[in-house]
Amino acid sequence: MKSIRIFAPATIANLSCGFDVLGCCLDTIGDEMTLTLTASNEIRITKITGAQLPLETTKNVAGVAVNALVAALNQPVGVDIEIHKRIKAGSGIGSSAASSAGAVWAVNHLLGNPFTPHELISFAMEGERLASGNAHADNVAPALLGGFTFVRSYAPLDVLKLPSPKELVATVIHPQIEIKTADARAIIKQNVALKKAITQWGNLGGFISGLFTEDYNLISRSLDDVIIEPLRSILIPEFETVKEVALSTGALGCGISGSGPSIFTLNRGYQTAQQVAQAIKNVYQHTGIDFEIHISKINTQGIKTLSS
Ligand code: ADP
Repeated sequence: MKSIRIFAPATIANLSCGFDVLGCCLDTIGDEMTLTLTASNEIRITKITGAQLPLETTKNVAGVAVNALVAALNQPVGVDIEIHKRIKAGSGIGSSAASSAGAVWAVNHLLGNPFTPHELISFAMEGERLASGNAHADNVAPALLGGFTFVRSYAPLDVLKLPSPKELVATVIHPQIEIKTADARAIIKQNVALKKAITQWGNLGGFISGLFTEDYNLISRSLDDVIIEPLRSILIPEFETVKEVALSTGALGCGISGSGPSIFTLNRGYQTAQQVAQAIKNVYQHTGIDFEIHISKINTQGIKTLSS
């Protein structure tokens, strides 16, 4: 039986000024999945470790995403899927996206790559629709394409891969409280004042320019969110203190990862990232809330084959 074991990476979505359109891929945290072609003509989730998640195909994002791929392929496919979770659901670093993107990437690989990585994005987005009620692409796109990604348009879907300046290193703190994507969405206002929109798209353009020109100063000036962060940050204990301490320790920027509760920073160089991680740790140690900290360079490859 043809089988593949993969690393399905965590991702940071939104990245301050890029709500629902920017994302980047991490290297040091991710799930493992094993997918095996079978003669059953059925998509089955056969095993899940590390989390309590549904085994029913239609209730698990991996099953839903693969079903979307199989529907587009228009031929019967049998696959058994094992998911070994390391990214906690509701962490804000793309737990559901890792499963959706990983599943479609691996099935596509097992079938001889009938779809391009860009085409896989829309299948993986169906998993995101199940997880949060919204088929967003800003986690599944960086997981599938690697590096930084930008969703220029949702209708039609138009996703670009952006350059990853070599010295960028991310830190992520995940306070172990759960914020559901759906709840974090409910807190957002549906209308935006023009003045704020102008600031936001100025920053988005600046950030993307900074990635192309490897201008770390410009990246730093642009990592600012005047629309979503002020509303959502109240859901995250000590957000403002963490941000202050991260910036004063040398982080280029700091914001909410996805819909939270994780907080990310982008830094120039590994040493600064380590110092920033330590400074954030010092803040969080006093809260009594359990937390995990990850330090990761940008994963420009995305999903990786571990064995096949
Ligand atoms: P994240 O922000 O980390 O992506 P979400 O809150 O968006 O997390 O998604 C998690 C939701 O998706 C949970 O309700 C979880 O039960 C559901 N879910 C279904 N299948 C999976 C899966 N394979 N991996 C992670 N979450 C899943």
